[in-house]
Amino acid sequence: MAPTKVLTGARLVLPTGTVDDGRVIVEGTRIADGGPPGPEPVGGSAKAPGGTETVDLGGHWVVPGFVDLHNHGGGGASFAGGTAEDVLKGVHTHRLHGTTTVVASAVTGDLDFLARHAGMLAELAQQGEIAGIHFEGPFISPCRKGAHDEGLLRDPDPAEVRKLVDAAHGHARMMTLATELPGGLDSVRLLAEHGVIAAVGHTDATYEQTLQAVDAGATVATHLFNAMPPLGHRSPGPITALLEDERVTVELINDGTHLHPAALQLAFHHAGAGRVAFITDAMDAAGFGDGRYMLGPLEVEVADGVARLVEGGSIAGSTLTLDRAFKRAVTVDGLPVEDVVRAISVNPARLLGLDDRIGSLEPGKDADLVVLDAGFDLVGVMRRGEWVVRPQLG
Ligand SMILES: [Zn+2]
Repeated sequence: MAPTKVLTGARLVLPTGTVDDGRVIVEGTRIADGGPPGPEPVGGSAKAPGGTETVDLGGHWVVPGFVDLHNHGGGGASFAGGTAEDVLKGVHTHRLHGTTTVVASAVTGDLDFLARHAGMLAELAQQGEIAGIHFEGPFISPCRKGAHDEGLLRDPDPAEVRKLVDAAHGHARMMTLATELPGGLDSVRLLAEHGVIAAVGHTDATYEQTLQAVDAGATVATHLFNAMPPLGHRSPGPITALLEDERVTVELINDGTHLHPAALQLAFHHAGAGRVAFITDAMDAAGFGDGRYMLGPLEVEVADGVARLVEGGSIAGSTLTLDRAFKRAVTVDGLPVEDVVRAISVNPARLLGLDDRIGSLEPGKDADLVVLDAGFDLVGVMRRGEWVVRPQLG
């Protein structure tokens, strides 16, 4: 029998609500049980060879492991241009901050480079280290390019979109497109047919054009508000379309830099907690520090945790980790913990089609969980039944 871990005394955020003084039983890589304290687990301490580890988490929260749909790196390493070793370093850095599932985001690059890079990332996805690949660019709008190399941007030609999807060997999870460009809607349809999320972003689309993209099959807004026209009363733009359409989940970067707190509240109120996904959009400096970095082919200066292009000064990703996004959402934004869990674990897991395995604390699912103290600081991380960060309890 697999070794058993019993976590006791914690406040558990379950799909059915929050349970005080709850207990999670982990057997091997999976959750065997979670809920109020009950009878001794079958095959409990006395019988389990290899022993049972009991951890008293009184006064702490246990929430599902975080799922990041949009992330370019961390720990000084890049998902957008690094080697496999670099990618693993970045993945580990984000695991230390509670992200037990991460999609690796590429940035705009030469198509042949992106195809080769996708092949390498696909191997890591095959090994279960990342949950797949997100292509952010090159099929985005020069008007809203953000920190992407303008010289390498292209209209979304479905044949080229297909080339990248094929290069990912079944591990392409999402592509961000400016769907108003020539070939945009056909590309959205192609992605939807291949089971790849079409995300509207880095776009200059109107309200009407954005609704067409959703009708064609787009289901995600790439960092809503950022890199798209603002909401105007006579030109409501993509923001209004993406917030109001029930088929769309909106990504939000809750780092206090990318969004005004009131914009975050507006998104939550309008879309509801079921249609919001917290992402980091992190670059290499996340979990590492200030300094000079590369984001794809472009140079970035990180100062006081804010990443900007050296040339032009555009915000160039974030240095956010999802544990900070969680804490901020509760302690600064005042969101209910249950809503934050939906935005940071449940919804992204569902979007990735992985909600049968991850995203909530339920029997049979992977034992991916995060332990937070009463102030919402991270004190423990478990991934597939193994401690990545073992709680150091007094
Ligand atoms: Zn990004």
